[in-house]
Amino acid sequence: MAPAPIETRLFINGEFRPSSSNETFDLPSATSGSLLAKVYEATEDDVDDAVAAAKAAFPAWAALSPFQRGRYLVRLADLIVESDAELARLEAESMGRPVSTYFDATVGSKYFRYFSEAAYPQGSSSLNTPGFVNITLKQPVGVVAAIIPWNAPLIFFCKKLAPALAAGNAVVLKSSEKAPLTSLYVAGLAQKAGFPAGVLNVLSGHGPVSGAALASHMDVRALTFTGSNRTGKLIAKMATDSNMKNIIFELGGKSPAIVFDDADIDAAVRETQFSIQLISGQTCMANSRIYVHRSIAESFIDKFKAAFTSARLGDPTDPTVNHGPQADNIQHATVLRYIELGKKTGKLVTEEQSASGLYINPTIFTDVPEDAQIMKDEIFGPVVVINTFDTETEAVAKANNTEHGLYAAVYTKDLDRAMRVASKLEAGTVGVNCTSPTKGDDMPFGGQKGSGVQRESYMHSIETFMETKSVLIKVEGLC
Ligand code: NAD
Repeated sequence: MAPAPIETRLFINGEFRPSSSNETFDLPSATSGSLLAKVYEATEDDVDDAVAAAKAAFPAWAALSPFQRGRYLVRLADLIVESDAELARLEAESMGRPVSTYFDATVGSKYFRYFSEAAYPQGSSSLNTPGFVNITLKQPVGVVAAIIPWNAPLIFFCKKLAPALAAGNAVVLKSSEKAPLTSLYVAGLAQKAGFPAGVLNVLSGHGPVSGAALASHMDVRALTFTGSNRTGKLIAKMATDSNMKNIIFELGGKSPAIVFDDADIDAAVRETQFSIQLISGQTCMANSRIYVHRSIAESFIDKFKAAFTSARLGDPTDPTVNHGPQADNIQHATVLRYIELGKKTGKLVTEEQSASGLYINPTIFTDVPEDAQIMKDEIFGPVVVINTFDTETEAVAKANNTEHGLYAAVYTKDLDRAMRVASKLEAGTVGVNCTSPTKGDDMPFGGQKGSGVQRESYMHSIETFMETKSVLIKVEGLC
């Protein structure tokens, strides 16, 4: 059967429509570079329309019981699962994500399913003030804006919208200009699931236009953002300068993994190389810095190199391929630039680049000074540095020598050491004898230091989309 035509219009107030300017931007295929689609570019007027639709839809949506809202969420979860193959195809074609590693519809739909039945947050009560019965109310904030990146767009769509909607908010989401198609596809599924008009709106377009308009909008009360630190800093200012929005920010990483000499080396190799190879190194929590105890370094590096370089590069729609192209030519050029920088400061232990198109061969550097730029910046490609250490204190100091703090891992069989190191690592999540991608969906996820503000997870997320109001009730005769 021929694939369904690709939806490229904006989804505002329950309907698909062209942008107010009728202008489009080109979306190239990451694999062939040819034009995949012309996508409508949202203008500031479109942002105003989407926010106005959300604001109008909010009171009726918030007035439903969590159970009633949950019925829409579970219908959407089912439709996402049914669309798994189509969603995988769209992401393979637009940003090169191999279909063989596509688990996003399964993971994403779980968010909608979970929040359709989640234990709904309740307020508390207090008799601690004589003469008063005091209570707290948990209430939705109103209109929530979500701005998401391109590397796993469906997961971020679901991770942000499911709790925001379950909490009773109405939402306007802006997808990344590099990967707008699955967000529009899921908007179509939401329409099919019967969501009331205006409750869920989806815009496509570039950050400085529609993203900035959303982040500055006076009728948006909370802004949930996943993306780079650079954009995070910009839009935090917009969110504050406009109307002091609540912000939930998930930003970049430069995640370390520490491998001690008593670790299961084969397991550590298998997992750390998967972490940095997944989506061609384009994941926020990838362990891009690995610190290995000097006594096992040679054997670790040999095994790591064999595993990492065995990645099968090719057409991401081919189910036998596990390493696709970088998402676009900007991303590709950036990674190559860092590889050249790495060659000036460290030792390249893999072959010179031979891949063509937007592909990058898995690349390993060793012996890189800790203050080199490739140790500091998030490269977002299949490039890893493997350095050595002698003592636990040195390993922790090196791992923490970064402005990022998203994820860290420690491999050792010594439980005391694992717990000492885990407590000292400056990261929102620490894996002990495991690494990213993260395992616990119900555990808070987010960054310390420059890697973010707030946490996301099953129950934690719904709380971030609600206000807590104290109501102080004076009661005559109560002592
Ligand atoms: P990005 O910051 O370039 O873009 C993210 C989103 O912000 C896009 O929708 C973009 O259009 C928008 N944007 C860009 N400039 C803007 C502006 N001036 N005003 C408003 N919006 C603007 O990031 P990216 O390249 O799409 O994604 C990769 C980054 O995301 C990496 O740094 C990665 O680590 C991070 N990331 C973090 C997590 C996490 O959970 N911590 C997960 C995935 C990705």
